[in-house]
Amino acid sequence: MQIRKPSRITLRQLVLILSIGSVLAMLVAGMAGAYRIQRDQLMEDTLAANQAFAEKLAASTSDLLRQAQQDLAYSAERVVQSGMDPTVLQSEVDRLRAQGIGFNTVSVMGSQGVILAVSPSALKVRGRRVDPNAPRSSPRHLTPTISSPFTSILGNLSILVTHPLYTAKDQYLGYLAGTVYLKSDGGLSRLIGQHYFRNDTYVYVVDATRRLLYHPQASRIGTEVVYDNPAIGAVLNGETGALRVTNSQGIDMLAGFAYVPAAKWGIVVQRPTQVTLARLDTLMRRALWLSLVPVGLLLALLWFLSGWVSRPLGELALVVQDGYEDNMARRIQSIRCWYFEAQRLQRALLEGLGAVGAQLDQLHDEAYQDPLTGLGNRRGLSLALQTCQALGQPFAVIALDIDFFKRINDTYGHDTGDQVIRQVGHWMRTQAREGDTLFRMGGEEFLALLPGAHQNAAANIAERLRAGIEHAAILPEETVTVSIGVAAWAPEDAIDPEQVLKAADQALYRAKQAGRNRVMGAEA
Ligand code: GH3
Ligand code: MG
Ligand code: MG
Repeated sequence: MQIRKPSRITLRQLVLILSIGSVLAMLVAGMAGAYRIQRDQLMEDTLAANQAFAEKLAASTSDLLRQAQQDLAYSAERVVQSGMDPTVLQSEVDRLRAQGIGFNTVSVMGSQGVILAVSPSALKVRGRRVDPNAPRSSPRHLTPTISSPFTSILGNLSILVTHPLYTAKDQYLGYLAGTVYLKSDGGLSRLIGQHYFRNDTYVYVVDATRRLLYHPQASRIGTEVVYDNPAIGAVLNGETGALRVTNSQGIDMLAGFAYVPAAKWGIVVQRPTQVTLARLDTLMRRALWLSLVPVGLLLALLWFLSGWVSRPLGELALVVQDGYEDNMARRIQSIRCWYFEAQRLQRALLEGLGAVGAQLDQLHDEAYQDPLTGLGNRRGLSLALQTCQALGQPFAVIALDIDFFKRINDTYGHDTGDQVIRQVGHWMRTQAREGDTLFRMGGEEFLALLPGAHQNAAANIAERLRAGIEHAAILPEETVTVSIGVAAWAPEDAIDPEQVLKAADQALYRAKQAGRNRVMGAEA
């Protein structure tokens, strides 16, 4: 079988492109959908976890502060009952610092702003009047308070928890104050810092003035957060919740936050979104790797199926492309057309082929034959041209005319003329290949139809024919010669095959003009 490269995309390529395209599109869409769902779920989970954590820390911090205030209130009562006995004062401040919630220092302040007792006593600040600008002296602590961060007289960044001292008759005697250092080992950092945070999660605590009370970067503790973080805005509004925010460094964060009403503080737990999603990326990469095997199998299956589906039509197309040949019907019948469309096409081709065969058989009928030479006649030629056109088969024609035939008739008589015509016809038949068809067009004019031949090949055949006749000694006394015109037709020329006959005639005319006994090709 002759296999020619198809000039256009084939059915199999089309099926493959469509199916592989669909598989890949589905894979991408599926992965993208799964990624989006997983990502949203992960972020939601992280936001919820961070909020729960912030709420837990807020509750613990509230407990811690309540405990501190209760401890101070209890000691305040004992101090007042003792009538401000210095021994009691000292023992109370020592007790508070030792057993309390993590006070770094505890002191009793007199109503005039003088320190009456301090623990640890090694500090040696007893009797000192405190800086009137420091938060512990102004305003006077008439109610229990929790201060903003400030730098203590010992230079430590601290917050202060105070409780006023009133006698039973409501006389103000001063206040009890416990400091919690923010940067060193105080109650707050012990409470928050002791938690083990995984995967870059961190916590910070802000007070109502947006100052940081706790932050994993110790250098930032005590500084004000100037950056407009929506989570801080929300938590200082007294809200508890979760938000996706961008932090001061421009990092995308998942933040959960909770409010501590007792101190008007906000606790924020943050984790970088990227860290949260990093696991997902790994997961998706793994999923993609795992899907490679089934997708590969699917593609192999598609490869096989596309061949299976397209084979019948492809084989039918090849037979048609190869053009008419004797075993064409057998080739068409041997193709396994297992589905409806291919089967219909196969049947239509066979039916068409039957009709063509019938037409070709007609050529042998008398109506299509020239009685003098036994070659086909003009009607036979039109039938043959129609067949070539129907099969879309390229062909060449050779138009031949005997030179100076009138003279032959005149010199040797009409019978001899007929004899010469028969001899030339015979010569043509001996030269013809299988599949070529020969016609006498009238008088001493002939035509050969060469299916599948191109112009150059036909010109070579014509030249052999011309030379053969010239040397055939058809007449004993003189040489009979012929002039020949050659032209060719192909389906892609998109012209009427009858036009080719005209082109061959014109070439023949030019051969006569040029002196006869020669071959001329049609002009392109
Ligand atoms: P050219 O070289 O130009 O072809 O010159 P020519 O003499 O061959 O001219 P043309 O082809 O026109 O001549 C055809 C002649 O053939 C005219 C006619 O008398 C003669 N003729 C036509 N049919 C027959 C036939 O069946 N038998 C015989 N013997 N002669 C025929
Ligand atoms: Mg003639
Ligand atoms: Mg002639």
